[in-house]
Amino acid sequence: MYTPLAAPLPSGSNAPDSKKYWNPLLETLTLEQMGPVHERLFLAQLAYAYERAEFYRDKFAEVGLELGDIGGLEDLPKVPFVSKDEIRRTQAESHPLGAHAAVDPDEVVRVYSSSGTSGVPIYVGLTANDLRHWAEVTARGQWANGIRPYHRVVLAVGHGGFFAAAAIKDAFEELGAMTIPIGPTATDRVIDAFRYLKADAILGTPSYVLYLLKALGDLGIEPDSLGLKRIVVGGEPGASDPAIRSLVEGSFGAPLLETMGIGEMMPHVWAECEHQSGMHYIAQGAVHIELIDPETEQPKPIVDGAEGELVYTALRKEANPLLRYRTRDHVIVSAGPCECGRAGFRIKCIGRTDDMLLVRGVNVYPSAVRDVVAGFTPAVSGAIMIELDAPGPAVEPPVQIKVELAGGAEPDEGLAGQIEATLRAKLIFRAEVEFVEFGSLPRSEYKGQLVRVSGRPVAN
Ligand SMILES: [Zn+2]
Repeated sequence: MYTPLAAPLPSGSNAPDSKKYWNPLLETLTLEQMGPVHERLFLAQLAYAYERAEFYRDKFAEVGLELGDIGGLEDLPKVPFVSKDEIRRTQAESHPLGAHAAVDPDEVVRVYSSSGTSGVPIYVGLTANDLRHWAEVTARGQWANGIRPYHRVVLAVGHGGFFAAAAIKDAFEELGAMTIPIGPTATDRVIDAFRYLKADAILGTPSYVLYLLKALGDLGIEPDSLGLKRIVVGGEPGASDPAIRSLVEGSFGAPLLETMGIGEMMPHVWAECEHQSGMHYIAQGAVHIELIDPETEQPKPIVDGAEGELVYTALRKEANPLLRYRTRDHVIVSAGPCECGRAGFRIKCIGRTDDMLLVRGVNVYPSAVRDVVAGFTPAVSGAIMIELDAPGPAVEPPVQIKVELAGGAEPDEGLAGQIEATLRAKLIFRAEVEFVEFGSLPRSEYKGQLVRVSGRPVAN
């Protein structure tokens, strides 16, 4: 049976702007206060997954672990990790939703699929309760982003490319905003929604927002004439980059706020508040977070400045419970207080463990390269492509990087030298920059493609 994640606010206190948080009870808990709540939920989820899903019984048996060996969250590191490849494998072998499915398919009310660019698609089944939990946590994230019931939000993400577009729509409806689902392919309709429906917010990927900016430029429309009040982005890193942020905010005259999650677990686990100092953890009571060293796979304490890969454990998922799911998202933690009063911790995503390149032993994240290059706007557009001769992660320097010039700009050798020197100083690797014309690099709807092997994109 569905149980709300926390009691609703007393009546009278939830007028549109009178509440600061969507879920004040949970969003103001510290990590220490959350511990006992998560421990109880974790033990229940573990027993549920173990009893109902063969996948977990097999995984435990492989490492000689029994359910009784796990007495609390301190034993969580004993539980084997689950990877995306394992999910793909079990779904290929055990239809329809894999051996980690814990309910009868008849109880599943919605199924999401990822794009199959890097192999077999991944399916995520959700029961009615799973969907409600998704909507509740996603609404927390959107509320933190500043979306209120009076906003009219253009959804510039599609069901095809963006894993959880429909769940985000559910969340907007849950909090009472007007939702205008258009997707990323009909930019004329996106512009019309601002013109005729007086839309005042947009949700898309950072790449899409940059693409919209270019499209408006081509049409001779001033971006700030759209009347945007909020720009919410997710699905790929990029929004935390100061150059991209100032370009977008300056052009549209509206704040840019970032969210992050993972379709297999929950569309939003992280969301930025109006103070824009990293993304707050907002999935209290739904997803338990660990930080690990991706190479040694050992847990790391979640303290200010800690860096590592996020690992998620579902706390109340019914259809496809996931325990210790490796996200491959590499983050830096900020644990200091935020003016908004949310008491958990914040993160900044610095890239994907999968995308990491190794240049003479130095870890280089393509998104970090893009962020450095974006520091050279307005001379460059901010779009880059790292060209490899052979698939990574090992790359021999100098690393070949195509850098797109801003519209109307001419190649400038001095500028190439400055970019190369800055990459060397900030990211400790040697690069060779080649300028390409504005608009010649691809802009994808989802997961911006930043690396390709001899003209062939690297699947991720
Ligand atoms: Zn905050």
